[in-house]
Amino acid sequence: MFKGIAASRGIGIGSVCVIKEHDLNYEAKKVEDTAAEKDRFNNAIEKFKKETSEMAEDIRKRIGPKEAEILEGHLVMISDPSMSGEMAKMIDSGQCAESAVEAVCDMFINMFSKMDDDMMRQRASDISDVKVSILKILLGIEDVNISQVAPGTVLVAKDLTPSMTSQINKENVVGIITEVGGKTSHSAILARALEIPAVLSVPDATELVKDKETAIVDGTEGVVFVNPDGDVLSQYIRKREDYIRKQSELKGFYGKETKTKDGTSLELFCNIGTPKDAKKAIECDGEGIGLFRSEFLFMDNNHMPTEDEQFAAYKEVAETMGGKPVIIRTLDIGGDKDIPYLNMKKEENPFLGYRAVRYCLGNKDSYMIQLRAIVRASAFGKIKIMIPLVTCVDELREVKALVEEIKKDFDANNIAYDKDIEVGCMIETPAASLIADILAKEADFFSIGTNDLTQYTMSVDRGNSDVAYLYSTFQPSVLRSIKNIIECGNKAGIPVGMCGEAAADPLMIPLLISFGLTEFSVNPVLVLTARCIISKWSKEEADELTNKIMALDNEQDIVKALKEASKD
Ligand code: PEP
Ligand code: MG
Repeated sequence: MFKGIAASRGIGIGSVCVIKEHDLNYEAKKVEDTAAEKDRFNNAIEKFKKETSEMAEDIRKRIGPKEAEILEGHLVMISDPSMSGEMAKMIDSGQCAESAVEAVCDMFINMFSKMDDDMMRQRASDISDVKVSILKILLGIEDVNISQVAPGTVLVAKDLTPSMTSQINKENVVGIITEVGGKTSHSAILARALEIPAVLSVPDATELVKDKETAIVDGTEGVVFVNPDGDVLSQYIRKREDYIRKQSELKGFYGKETKTKDGTSLELFCNIGTPKDAKKAIECDGEGIGLFRSEFLFMDNNHMPTEDEQFAAYKEVAETMGGKPVIIRTLDIGGDKDIPYLNMKKEENPFLGYRAVRYCLGNKDSYMIQLRAIVRASAFGKIKIMIPLVTCVDELREVKALVEEIKKDFDANNIAYDKDIEVGCMIETPAASLIADILAKEADFFSIGTNDLTQYTMSVDRGNSDVAYLYSTFQPSVLRSIKNIIECGNKAGIPVGMCGEAAADPLMIPLLISFGLTEFSVNPVLVLTARCIISKWSKEEADELTNKIMALDNEQDIVKALKEASKD
């Protein structure tokens, strides 16, 4: 068994075809006739551009515009005077075309590969792709035609370049193994777009695996088996069938309403950290944003984002969501989230310290900047404000008063905003849970943050592996707390959602349906899974199970009973 990076989910089983690297050696000679060499170079560049734009067009049609942009980027690169111009200059000075291409590309590869940013490092691999393609044209090397491989092929290559990918016929290639590349590399992006299971960064794969051998590619776990024995093979054939069945079941939920088995409509929102993630939420069929963790805007910056910078980000999310609800959580820092430029004090107990709404209310000038940016952006969609780590009603009142102050100022200055903008509480502390009835009278909505609610209820640091055995949302104490919060919200007639990880847990979903939760906010990739599970439970079935569960007195028995009843 070989381990690598799980880059594209699913299981592929097939016969190996190793794509060997070409020998790109050449004799670096001085040229006399520089004009003729320049012609040879220009012809190669023209051929490269023609082939690349044909491949981009093919990818655009077969896979999608986003994936085609990778190859279009190669065209932009080679057309940049700092690249082709520099190469031409070197040829003018007597170098052969191959040396010129290699030297200029290597200079850029060197520069980009040293950068911290993932995107910049990816550019180094793009240039390496461009270099190899042009050298092959200059040296008259023909690529293996991947489009001709037999059905049931597992491709094994050093790297899967976009140009190679454009030739992949999805009907024939059942798996991909490469020696380099990570989750965000182009090979991974393209493999995922083609829905072909892929395991990347398997060291020496092209040496270790031979043509015609049988390989299993488990792109979900990131493992590869070569010439597996009968047991492993039949185990993986079963796994593959399960995976395919589940995937096609999930696809059937795309574009569908989120409804319980007995027809009650529920809302299924997404948790996001950046404005870009909102696009993912739409792609994944999310019905709104249930949690925009605004602190990432602050953490990804080297300065406190200005009102205009924040406004632009919130407006982008609102517009991307096109009128669907967007719940923006105000700055939730402290605990394990530090923002160096804020110079926050070191604390003995940071999770119990000066954090989230406490910090914001103690630094009102900065908080007002954020609240103003959010209220301004509310003119562009259905934005709601959510306060993290509430522990007493005074915090809610203070934030609401600040929002009122901003509204008055905007009215006086004719600044547009949504007059009905709601202010809600995150319920993620035992204190808030115990006064949920009081908070519900003044909050416009609740969202249960089970990640912290579990931490604070169980008194376990959510990041400490020594006490992880106690960190479970299925502890009776946590379940009682969740039940109480939902009941208090429902009694007061305000919507209650959940944005902690538990909202997407298949075992938790029937309990939440029974408690009366109306909005689930999950990681975008889990939207269809959550919708599918919700559709399998009626209120009556969920109530029956919940009555049994709430009578149990310990976490292990609860999880066991939920697993037995699971419809996953
Ligand atoms: C939570 O605590 O459940 C939550 C959603 O917020 P975070 O994980 O960002 O603390
Ligand atoms: Mg939290």
